[in-house]
Amino acid sequence: MDERQAAAERICARLTAAGYRALFAGGCVRDVLLGVPPKDFDIATNARPEDVQALFEKTIPVGAAFGVVRVRVPEGEFEVATFRHDGPYLDGRRPSHVTFTDAKSDALRRDFTINALFYDPFSDEVIDYVGGQRDLEAGVIRTVGDPRQRFEEDYLRLLRAVRFAARLDYCIEENTMAAIQALAQNIERTSPERIADELLKMLTEGNAERAFQLLDETGMLNVVLPEVAGMKGVEQPAGFHPEGDVFTHTLLALRHLDHPTPALALGVLLHDVGKPVTQTFEDRIRFHCHAKVGAEMARDICKRLRLANCTTERVAWLVEQHMRVADIPDMRESRRKRFVREDGFSELLDLCRIDCLASHGDLSTIQWIEEYIRTLEPETVRPEPLLTGHDLIAMGYTPGPWFKEILDAVEDAQLEGEVRTPEEACTMVRQHWPCE
Ligand code: ATP
Ligand code: MG
Repeated sequence: MDERQAAAERICARLTAAGYRALFAGGCVRDVLLGVPPKDFDIATNARPEDVQALFEKTIPVGAAFGVVRVRVPEGEFEVATFRHDGPYLDGRRPSHVTFTDAKSDALRRDFTINALFYDPFSDEVIDYVGGQRDLEAGVIRTVGDPRQRFEEDYLRLLRAVRFAARLDYCIEENTMAAIQALAQNIERTSPERIADELLKMLTEGNAERAFQLLDETGMLNVVLPEVAGMKGVEQPAGFHPEGDVFTHTLLALRHLDHPTPALALGVLLHDVGKPVTQTFEDRIRFHCHAKVGAEMARDICKRLRLANCTTERVAWLVEQHMRVADIPDMRESRRKRFVREDGFSELLDLCRIDCLASHGDLSTIQWIEEYIRTLEPETVRPEPLLTGHDLIAMGYTPGPWFKEILDAVEDAQLEGEVRTPEEACTMVRQHWPCE
């Protein structure tokens, strides 16, 4: 058994011994029934937060007002939440207050039937107040209760429905789907951070292609990522892109994501985001500077989603550079080495492999680059500098902006293998930049 599951069972045992009811709740029950390892084991109990805090040595009252206490044991931290019923959602995000109740009303406040199951580790019983087991077997995402009302309480559930349907490859029950389509526009009333969190989960948890298809079918894509919706119907030259328009290509690319970093996943999603606005019809369809334009758009999108700066910059870089990779075999050695040693190059190569797989399928350039990198001597990629600014001063040069120019030229020559020693470097510098 998963050691975290055993630890969660011990927490339940401690609560039960103290006279409380304690059950596994929500996502972990769903995942255990599906035979997939849960991300977390959450526990629901009739013990009040103060009772939970009294019973365990290390606790963190993360949301005591909402009945949530984190219990820390050597195996990790576990959320122990008091059975509760949510009051009205005044801000569409968080209940105005909660009332502590019993397991049944706690099930009824949860979003989807498959997420509203409990499991009693001692009797080995699944406790199902909402028909969650039936939906789990049939592969259905269905809200607990009236879909419209449940989405109106918290519009994030619109995205969660799509995420779970994609990740589990389930269908969305008809009334639930109709409510999502009717309310799609309201997703904009959710905070960008929460939206970003859901989108990143969709992109990295598997089946991102279906997630984006569903975002489109539900009408939410146009609201959360209009730039991606804008790829639809944008034709491309069939020779390079036999698969179809830019949106079709992008969805196909998402299919090839395999446990990607968030930056790679976003890079793949947005690599051609500049195409719709740069499309021209000349001798053939062209997209002048789409990578550069797309990088700016990707940066704006990431900022809008309030992503961390490092992710934003990496995504923008991946989009901006993705067309340069094909030129690598023809580059001068120094330029090539400078490129492959950049942070993020392996993500860029992954992106370009996916780009090829989702279009013409020809991986020969990617394989050439992989072979090139395999045979590179690491010390020739980032060699010790042959000269420094101090050496130039010692040679009689006055410090100034050209120091960078000179040192870069020396490094280029070194990367090309034309200059190997400090003496050769001095000679080269004296030849090209005579001292006044
Ligand atoms: P994951 O595997 O992605 O963590 P999960 O089902 O565990 O999926 P969480 O976001 O961790 O999802 O939430 C835990 C549980 O809390 C859910 O299973 C669900 O019962 C409930 N829940 C979470 N978010 C909401 C929400 N916005 N509205 C209603 N119930 C929710
Ligand atoms: Mg969870």
